[in-house]
Amino acid sequence: MISLPFSCFALAAIWYLSNLRKNLAHLAATDLLTGLNNRRAFMAAAEKATAQKRGVLMMIDLDHFKKINDSYGHAVGDECLQVIADVLREQVRATDVVGRLVGEEFGIFLTDAPIDEAREIGERICAGAELSLANTDRVVNITASVGAAEMPEDDDLESALTLADMAMYQAKAAGRARVVFWEKGVTARACAEA
Ligand code: GH3
Ligand code: MG
Ligand code: MG
Repeated sequence: MISLPFSCFALAAIWYLSNLRKNLAHLAATDLLTGLNNRRAFMAAAEKATAQKRGVLMMIDLDHFKKINDSYGHAVGDECLQVIADVLREQVRATDVVGRLVGEEFGIFLTDAPIDEAREIGERICAGAELSLANTDRVVNITASVGAAEMPEDDDLESALTLADMAMYQAKAAGRARVVFWEKGVTARACAEA
């Protein structure tokens, strides 16, 4: 017969290990700087979302980010990444997927978003944010170039990422701080003109 203290100990150990496993799984899926999904978790969640619904995939690349690091230091650059992560979190709906893909590049899958709504979200994201520097009157202006690709239900995520990436480079080439939807012969629309 198993004693009561041993049963309690066994239950506590099971509870502890189960929590530990959940925490480790969360850590493995999370970008530590921003708290967003890391690339692997983003891809997995976006794959799942796109298998069920059409949507819009967005590639977001911060503008002249190297210059921000060079001008204000790496720690301020890190803070900018956190501020932009907050902007992304604020802009998406509960059903959307957000992640930091690498460096100053982020991805969003807008589940079942009408194209006009996706465009508005993209325009708010490319306007970025301002970061006020502590103990100075200086403000860092952070903007983003956003490339977007419409995805039919169950479309191939990697192909859509390539298209969104091409649109993002078109946004860069057209002057940055703007959103471009991928289509052949596309023209860019600046945030300021929206
Ligand atoms: P563009 O507008 O063409 O995208 O220019 P950019 O300067 O943003 O692009 P580039 O690829 O030249 O530089 C990206 C910079 O992002 C360089 C790298 O040091 C910085 N970076 C990448 N990851 C981090 C990070 O975790 N923290 C900080 N502070 N900087 C990072
Ligand atoms: Mg980049
Ligand atoms: Mg960049």
